Amino acid sequence: MRLVLVGPPGAGKGTQAEFIAAHLAVPKISTGDIFRANVVQGTPLGIEAKRYMDAGQLVPDEVTINMVRDRLAEADAADGFLLDGFPRTVPQAVALDKLLANLGAGLDLVMELVVDDDEVIRRLSGRRQCHGCQKIWHVEFDPPSRDGICDRCGGQLYQRDDDLPATIAERLRVYARDTAPLVDYYGAQGRLVGIDATGPVEDVTLRAIDALRSYGG
Ligand code: ADP
Ligand code: AMP
Repeated sequence: MRLVLVGPPGAGKGTQAEFIAAHLAVPKISTGDIFRANVVQGTPLGIEAKRYMDAGQLVPDEVTINMVRDRLAEADAADGFLLDGFPRTVPQAVALDKLLANLGAGLDLVMELVVDDDEVIRRLSGRRQCHGCQKIWHVEFDPPSRDGICDRCGGQLYQRDDDLPATIAERLRVYARDTAPLVDYYGAQGRLVGIDATGPVEDVTLRAIDALRSYGG
């Protein structure tokens, strides 16, 4: 299955992507995680991307599309994937459609995680991520048993540079302007399903898996 998750920053895409990708036995491809890995390694891509990420802006389409093209060419993505955080603009969605059409494939479903701005701000303000395995935590909603330490791998947790209040506000503006139009784009293709992303993580996962079942996943 070829699946895309859309929704505002903090909607829970990365959190749900873990469970949904495991359920579907497909790789989870997060453009944010790939950019962050490049930032840590200090690659030219990471150095370029960091300027945009820290400002709450999107990395330019051309850079992002080339990176995703390379990633989707890897063997593990041949039979399906779950994209988390891509596409984020209509030109990226058009490029993805073309890329898949060239492979004789197409997206099966685009799942929108629906959650309001106040909840997103609560989620982003307390988000922590593991340096080791990238698992996502929340200081209040999903705390690890030991402060600052990942239960899964023992790695150190950190707060993302772009989870500061001013940057969060900018990311929400960018989402409304550049990414929200994807809902209409995929709605018009008849590929969109929206799910309520509020409430406990497990409840959202169940709603997501229910929605996938009704589309054959
Ligand atoms: P996104 O990938 O959409 O930006 P994340 O998956 O990183 O969002 O989630 C943002 C924050 O919200 C994280 O700290 C995560 O632990 C927390 N979170 C995710 N889902 C829920 C939920 N259903 N209820 C409460 N907090 C959640
Ligand atoms: P995320 O981890 O999905 O919240 O992404 C973190 C940051 O990485 C975003 O705020 C952007 O700066 C950048 N980014 C991730 N995915 C994309 C994308 N598809 N297009 C442009 N920038 C992106």
